[in-house]
Amino acid sequence: MLRQIITIDEEKCNGCALCIPVCPEGALQIIYGKARLISDLMCDGLGACIGECPEGAITIV
Ligand code: SF4
Repeated sequence: MLRQIITIDEEKCNGCALCIPVCPEGALQIIYGKARLISDLMCDGLGACIGECPEGAITIV
């Protein structure tokens, strides 16, 4: 079954880390200066992080 998770556009991400604390699942981390989803399983797909990103780098897929 497909479910929705977020994806991060590395070209747009500036590593500001604003998205990290807003994720209730703790699924995001900054790795080598870019936000990464550390586990697809941890992402609930609700997109709490999307509104925080000033670069518009986060989208739901
Ligand atoms: S808020 Fe956006 S630009 Fe900032 S670290 Fe997260 S994905 Fe990257």
